[in-house]
Amino acid sequence: MVRKNLRQELMDIFHELLDHFGPRRWWPGETPLEVAVGAILTQNVAWRNVEKAINNLKARGLLSIEGLVKVPVEELATLIRATRYYNQKAARLKHFVGMVEHEFGGSLDRLFRLETPILRAKLLGLKGIGKETADSILLYAANHPVFVVDTYTRRIFSRLGYLAENVGYDEMQGFFTRHLPLDNYIFNEYHALIDALGNRVCLSRSPRCAACPLAGRCVFRSTEEIGTE
Ligand code: SF4
Repeated sequence: MVRKNLRQELMDIFHELLDHFGPRRWWPGETPLEVAVGAILTQNVAWRNVEKAINNLKARGLLSIEGLVKVPVEELATLIRATRYYNQKAARLKHFVGMVEHEFGGSLDRLFRLETPILRAKLLGLKGIGKETADSILLYAANHPVFVVDTYTRRIFSRLGYLAENVGYDEMQGFFTRHLPLDNYIFNEYHALIDALGNRVCLSRSPRCAACPLAGRCVFRSTEEIGTE
């Protein structure tokens, strides 16, 4: 399929999703630290479980760099038990806050003021922090213009005909970064809207195409309809 004006098409999709779902107001969290902790804890678990863990940390007065540095890792694991893989996640939180404490004097602001590629490399250098988590922290906690992609992005944009089904993270991210304006608001809202569509409508099996705001432009849907005629 020949794409004449990808920026315009991607912005049209953005506005269609925004009209349909409304602003998502991501990321839920009262402080940059809470957002970063949420990004680390949300791997492979529903958000409500992350909320339970964060509420436990708040109730114990531990949701600070100092608090998370001081709490024993075993106690931390118990407090975040609801998030599955809690031992690994407790260790990841410890690596993160330890780096902030030892290299940046406990200041998240100082860490987040690094240039984007340097900050990204620093986060990716922490054990257990992958690209999606690092980019979520960059965008939603540190306010750097980095487009976050995930399984939903791959599924939706391959079905729409823009990406291959097996496209890798970097290529997928590069596609959006090249064709969208470098704008924190758009990056922030776009990823959240993709999440809403992937979570509620463009399901892995039996996508709910009749309820999809992008149905009119979807290659997968038109192929399915021809196949069932
Ligand atoms: S029309 Fe169907 S397959 Fe296409 S994006 Fe929407 S839900 Fe997904």
